[in-house]
Amino acid sequence: VSAPEYRCDPITGRLVILAPDRARRPGAEIREAPLHTSAEQCPFCEGKESETPPESFAVRGDSAPDSPGWQVRFLPNMFPAVRDDLAIPHSPHAGVGLHEVVVEAPRHTSSLTGESPEQARIVFRAYRDRLRRLRRLGRFPCVHLFHNAGHGGGASQEHVHSQLIATPFVPDRLREELAGAATFAKAHACDPWTWQIRTETETGVRIVAQTPRFTAWCPYASRFAHEVWIAPNRPTPHFDDADDAEVAELADLFRDLLLRIETRLGPAYNYYLHTAPWSGFGAETRAFCWHWEITPRTGGIAGWEVGTGMFLNPTSPESAAETLRRS
Ligand SMILES: [Zn+2]
Ligand SMILES: [Zn+2]
Repeated sequence: VSAPEYRCDPITGRLVILAPDRARRPGAEIREAPLHTSAEQCPFCEGKESETPPESFAVRGDSAPDSPGWQVRFLPNMFPAVRDDLAIPHSPHAGVGLHEVVVEAPRHTSSLTGESPEQARIVFRAYRDRLRRLRRLGRFPCVHLFHNAGHGGGASQEHVHSQLIATPFVPDRLREELAGAATFAKAHACDPWTWQIRTETETGVRIVAQTPRFTAWCPYASRFAHEVWIAPNRPTPHFDDADDAEVAELADLFRDLLLRIETRLGPAYNYYLHTAPWSGFGAETRAFCWHWEITPRTGGIAGWEVGTGMFLNPTSPESAAETLRRS
């Protein structure tokens, strides 16, 4: 039995409540039922290209667009949250943006962990290359790339896929991180990413894994049980500036972490990229470092979280790291 504790995120200043005893209350565990959509009805499988909108980007050999022979396909979302085809001129409130689905394997499979390490590398390289292309197009300064796995993670299709939403504005959480990083850097003469990785490495209690270029750890003020962040050891604002060797090392580490999460905690989680906007945030992006956050979804969020914007986490990041560190 350990006492509840308030913890403050060093970058955003947001508080969380760590309440370890809450995990022991009856009914706290969400039991995740598998998402079953059959391959016959799946529009994402290789050979079903005619059932999807035309691809906007793909990793494929010599084959023609929208035909078989691909490894990764980016498609316009058929049920978009935002749209880039609204009439111009549009009202300032029109939901202008880009919403794409990233199909991450040609065969019907629910996770990258069931695919080869090489396929995971291809997927992460495709994330980077799609972002590079969107940066060059220059239409939207900000891209949010995210993955929903399992019912609890909000997935509706079983076939392994992520989504990408590009917006003309910077979403609140990223804006808080950018502003917080700039403030931190001014106050401490060190950016918070270098500081975090250095202090986490020194204490070691929240470290999950380290490779020559990356650190994965459970953040001090974790919002979700077993939340993991992955950042490069040398901070840099934009993920799309990563080179092939970095992306390959990241993909190997990421696949390994997802494997640990799936076998120890279950198939429901989200992961997403935080990368600096390409324009509109001059000085603030300099103290920022791109990173991925993985949030396993073993508990629900409810009235407390929705009403306060503050999270209640039943697992300390120290014990979460211990669970995820064991190989
Ligand atoms: Zn499929
Ligand atoms: Zn972040």
